[in-house]
Amino acid sequence: MRIIMLGAPGAGKGTQAQFITERFEIPQISTGDMLRAARASGSELGERVAQIMDEGSLVSDEIVIALIDEQLEVQAGAPGFIFDGFPRTVGQAEALDRLLESRGEAVNRVIRILVDDDKLLSRVTKRFEEQGRKDDNPETFSKRLEKYYEDTAPLVPIYAERGILVEVDGMGSIEAVATAIDAALKETA
Ligand code: AMP
Repeated sequence: MRIIMLGAPGAGKGTQAQFITERFEIPQISTGDMLRAARASGSELGERVAQIMDEGSLVSDEIVIALIDEQLEVQAGAPGFIFDGFPRTVGQAEALDRLLESRGEAVNRVIRILVDDDKLLSRVTKRFEEQGRKDDNPETFSKRLEKYYEDTAPLVPIYAERGILVEVDGMGSIEAVATAIDAALKETA
């Protein structure tokens, strides 16, 4: 099972991906986590992406695709993957298709978590106060949301056309959303 979590920043992709990881016993591949780890380690890559991340822009396709390629190699024996925060552009989606195809695989499901902009802002503001993630401050958040609509939302019709898009109401509690995702995955199995 190869699943993509799609949704705006603050929609709950990472949280819900963790549940799916446990349920299907497939690894979660989060480009955001990988990039934050690169920064924390003080690597050259980390230094290159720091400013881009802090201002709420997207890191280049080339960098994130290379990270994904490497992860797919590392996790070659896994029965599937859950991609969290990737792909974020049409170019990344095309690259993912090519990478999977070369392994005789394909994306099976895309779970889109739907949350209103007001709710996204209140969730991310809360996370900013609790965790202090620099790019969660309200100004940077609005830039990230803008990038989401500009660069990532165009993926929705692409996956819908393939018949692999599953849309879930993400306005409720973590448990309610997890239950809705579970039901939607069963329904489309
Ligand atoms: P996230 O934790 O997924 O919200 O990602 C945090 C930040 O990392 C984003 O705002 C981007 O700057 C960068 N990032 C993460 N994933 C990607 C991606 N697939 N493409 C480009 N930039 C990304």
